[in-house]
Amino acid sequence: MMPLRMSIHEINIGAIHEFPVQRKGMFHMRVSQLLNPTLREVPAEAEVISHQLMVRAGLIRKSASGLYTYLPLGLRVLRKIETIVREEMDAKGGQELLMPIMQPAELWKESGRWDVYGDELFRLKDRHNREFCLGPTHEEIITDLIRGEVRSYKQLPLLLYQIQNKYRDERRPRFGLMRGREFIMKDLYSFDRDEAGLAESYQKMYDAYCRIFARCGLAYRPVEADAGAIGGTGGTHEFMVLADSGENAVVYCPECSYAANVEKAECRPQVIEVASPEGQRKLVFTPNVRTIDELSGFLAVPKTSLVKSLLYQGDEKLFLVLIRGDRELNEIKLNNALGGFVSLELASPEDVKKILGCEPGSVGPVEVPNELMVVADEEVPLMKKAVCGANKANHHFVDAVPSIEFRIDQVLDLRMMEQGEACLKCGAPLKEARGIEVGQVFKLGTKYSKALGATFLDPDGEEKACVMGCYGVGVSRSIAAAIEQNHDDYGIIWPMPIAPYQCIIVPVSTKDSLVVETADKLYLEFQRLGVEVVLDDRDERAGVKFKDADLVGYPLRVTIGSKTLANGQVELRERKTGETHLVTVEEVAGQVKTIIEKEISF
Ligand code: ATP
Ligand code: MG
Repeated sequence: MMPLRMSIHEINIGAIHEFPVQRKGMFHMRVSQLLNPTLREVPAEAEVISHQLMVRAGLIRKSASGLYTYLPLGLRVLRKIETIVREEMDAKGGQELLMPIMQPAELWKESGRWDVYGDELFRLKDRHNREFCLGPTHEEIITDLIRGEVRSYKQLPLLLYQIQNKYRDERRPRFGLMRGREFIMKDLYSFDRDEAGLAESYQKMYDAYCRIFARCGLAYRPVEADAGAIGGTGGTHEFMVLADSGENAVVYCPECSYAANVEKAECRPQVIEVASPEGQRKLVFTPNVRTIDELSGFLAVPKTSLVKSLLYQGDEKLFLVLIRGDRELNEIKLNNALGGFVSLELASPEDVKKILGCEPGSVGPVEVPNELMVVADEEVPLMKKAVCGANKANHHFVDAVPSIEFRIDQVLDLRMMEQGEACLKCGAPLKEARGIEVGQVFKLGTKYSKALGATFLDPDGEEKACVMGCYGVGVSRSIAAAIEQNHDDYGIIWPMPIAPYQCIIVPVSTKDSLVVETADKLYLEFQRLGVEVVLDDRDERAGVKFKDADLVGYPLRVTIGSKTLANGQVELRERKTGETHLVTVEEVAGQVKTIIEKEISF
């Protein structure tokens, strides 16, 4: 008799053979049957290339601002990215669940976000007048779930995720899928016993994200990022697909691994020596001078010798911000440093007049009212002498000594990093690039578990709050990002792993029966080999078919024409390189299969 262990092993193997792991969906389609309305014209409202191409290639159609229908080919791309995401989440021990899109206001009130999330939250009421929102993210719902289900440290860690629609009433929905009001996100939440556990979960997700974007065939970079409104105290990285049209500016070091969103990039203060440090502070008449450029021109001094003084309003509070004249203020750093206001903006000219008695262009930090808080960028007190506003119309001070004559309450890193500055890690000059944020990993800590009471008992019987992380992938945005990075004048160039179909067969003529027969035969053979293939069986001119194939961006095209077929050959063309080869009818399917396998293996 066989040992018991052996037979269990065999049963398992048998089960795997009997039930395929996953249903893979449609592998093939005739273009004549496909809902793939391509357009020659560039749609008027589409500003960026990915949006233009998605509409022109018949992948999406707009229903209303920021709301789209995915047509069959667009949906195939979406599903492929979802599959990659799902595989990588599962590989790290993630468990998939599905939470409601509609969320009760009570939970958001418990976390404190109902009032601070602002206009981006879609709010609604039911027939009993109870308040709800459409989930822009799911920290509240999942924390509520965990507080009900987790009692003991033995149930942790947990990695829970879903792939689902999210809703944000964006100020400017635009660029097609890039910034929608309804979009698809994978969101995973980690629950750990302590910081060390969180660090492990975070690293798992960081690694998984690297694999996801690499598997999608995208050039990406993880960058240190700002924690923003979602809260939490730990670290965070954004995953950026590098593309000139990206909304984010990132700095990166070509020598070491350092990379950061400019919003976050820490700056090293620079000291600039001045020519005549001796003079006393003097009031000078500066008629009609309002801007830094005008002041620099009028007094013939470099902008590095000027101090910009800006009156800001954070929620109800007013404060004065000082920064060197040649620098740009980083409002995100400012807001974080001061504790996170819901709204932060320049004070109105009326408020400036009321508080400082002058126009915004004449504001300065000498003798400001005691109750007004003054915060300065690190470089300001290092200036030996400075020119600044005098809080008097048409007047400025020259030769003021910031470290003595300015009343500064707080010195902070408040400026925007500039290209070419030295890397804080290795000193090499930093470079700047544009990026599209396709994902973010985030250490939340106990912000939500404490607010909602998601606690567990440790081995020693102590009750502790779960230590949380959250991790998002913009699944639908990734489609747009892939196109921004992979296109040419003729259309999309899909990376093989996310192409709607891997190959298109184009019979040049539908009149030549040998051409048609060969096309049908290859279409079947490709299917048999598991190649995802479409057959352009439309009665159209070859030029039209080629144009559509290039526009949609199938990675491989097999062209069947009477001339080459007379020699038993067809043409195999790669969309990415434009290279063509003549291949025999017998060998083409094998070659196509080989190319595909090479490009989707990881
Ligand atoms: P952004 O700064 O671009 O508004 P975010 O930082 O607010 O994005 P997260 O809360 O980090 O977004 O959401 C996770 C991911 O969801 C983002 O990395 C992004 O890829 C995607 N995403 C966010 N907002 C949108 C949107 N309006 N449309 C499409 N994708 C989005
Ligand atoms: Mg983000």
